[in-house]
Amino acid sequence: MADSKPTKTAHITEMPITWRNWYQHVNWLSVFFIIVIPLMGFIAAYHYPLQRATAAFAIFYYFNTGLGITAGYHRLWAHSSYRASTPLKIYLAAVGVGAVQGSIRWWSRGHRAHHRYTDTTKDPYSVRKGFWYSHLGWMIMKQNPKSIGRADITDLNKDPIVIWQHRNYIKAVLFMGLIFPTLVCGIGWGDWVGGFIYAGILRATFVQQATFCVNSLAHWLGDQPFDDRNSPRDHVITALVTLGEGYHNFHHEFPSDYRNAIEWWQYDPTKWAIWTWKQLGLAYDLKQFKQNEIEKGRLQQEQKKLDAWRSKLDWGTPISQLPIITWDDFQTESAKADGRALVVIAGVVHDVADFIEEHPGGKAFISSAIGKDATATFNGGVYQHSNAAHNLLSTMRVGVIYGGGEVEIWKRAYSEKPNEIKNQLIQRAGKQVIQTSP
Ligand SMILES: [Zn+2]
Ligand SMILES: [Zn+2]
Repeated sequence: MADSKPTKTAHITEMPITWRNWYQHVNWLSVFFIIVIPLMGFIAAYHYPLQRATAAFAIFYYFNTGLGITAGYHRLWAHSSYRASTPLKIYLAAVGVGAVQGSIRWWSRGHRAHHRYTDTTKDPYSVRKGFWYSHLGWMIMKQNPKSIGRADITDLNKDPIVIWQHRNYIKAVLFMGLIFPTLVCGIGWGDWVGGFIYAGILRATFVQQATFCVNSLAHWLGDQPFDDRNSPRDHVITALVTLGEGYHNFHHEFPSDYRNAIEWWQYDPTKWAIWTWKQLGLAYDLKQFKQNEIEKGRLQQEQKKLDAWRSKLDWGTPISQLPIITWDDFQTESAKADGRALVVIAGVVHDVADFIEEHPGGKAFISSAIGKDATATFNGGVYQHSNAAHNLLSTMRVGVIYGGGEVEIWKRAYSEKPNEIKNQLIQRAGKQVIQTSP
C-alpha cells in the first residue's frame, strides 16, 4: 500500500478518494470520539439500566458542559462578547472540555474562520458542502489545513487558561468527559457503571450533537430577519437544542453581541447565564449592539422582501419612459373612428379601450371622457376614485401631454435624477402621480 501514500508535498486531501486510499482520508481519531464511543455507549445502555439519580446528574452535567461550549468556548473565547473573572474562566474551560469537542484554542480558531469566511471554501464547516458535511463530515474527513481561512488568535495565545487547556487536552478531556461524571455517580450513590455510560459517554454524545446542530441546522432551517445573502438562520428548534444558539442569523450579523436572542421571550439560557454572572460580579463588559443598528438591518431585510414582491407586479410604464404627445395629436387620435380610447388625467394619457366594458361606474361615464381631460372628474368631480382605481389606471398609461403642466415638468425633472425615479417607482397608497388632492 506504500504507493498510495501521499508524497511529502501533497496533502492527502489534494488526492481524489479511491478504493485504495479512502481510509487515509478519514480522521480516525474523530471517528473514534464522535461515532465509535457513542455507539458503544448506546449498546452498553441497552444492557445496563438507568438509575434516577444518575439520570438527574447526567441532565445537570449536560447543561453545565453545554454552557461550557456556548457561554465559554463560543461567546467568551471565540467572540470576546464579554469578559470573565478567573474563577468563571476556569469553570468554563473545565466544563467546556467535558463536552468533548476539542480545546478552546482549536475550536475558537475554526469558529472565527467560519464567521470570517461563511459559506465559502475557506469556511471549515460550510453548509454549502451539504448538511451532513457541516454537521459531521468536516470532522470525520481529513481537512487540508491550507484550505481553512486564516483567523487571528493572538488574544487566545496570551490567555494562560486557554494555553494550559490546549497543552493538557487529552488528560483534561478524559477527566472531565468520563472520569469526573463516573466519580460523582460512583461515590455519590454507587452507580459507577451508569455514571460512566450515561453521565459520561451518552451525555457527551448529546452535547456534541447539539453543538454540531449550530453548524448544520442553524445554517439550514428557519428565517433570515437580518440578512439573506448568507446561510445563517433563526429557528426556535435550533435554539432549544443548543442552549439558545439558534438565533444564528442575528448572531452572524452581530457576532460580538453577548446575546443570540434579543427578545425577552426567546429561549436563550446562555444569555441568561451570562447576565446572572454579571449580577454576581463574575462577568463584566457585556457587549451589546445598539438597538438602532439592529433595527436598521431588520428594516433593510424587510424592505428587500417588499422590493422583490413589488418588482413582480405591473405598475404601468414609468412616467419617465412615456412618449410626449401634443394635445392636438391626442384629440385627433381619440376622434378617429378606429382610433384609441384615450383619456387624459393629470397630464397623463391613458388608453382605456379594454376597460370600457368593465368600468364599475358604467360604460357611459368612461366613454364620455374619451378625448378629454378628466382630471377633475376622476379625482372627485363626479366620483372620488379609490386607491385601487388609481393603481389600475396607472397600468393603462401610454403617454404624457406636451405642455401638460405639472406632469411633464415632473417627468423632465426626474429623468435628470435617475435615483429618484427609482424611489418614485414605489407607489405608496394614495401617492399615484394622477392622484390630486380633492
Ligand atoms: Zn454559523
Ligand atoms: Zn459564532
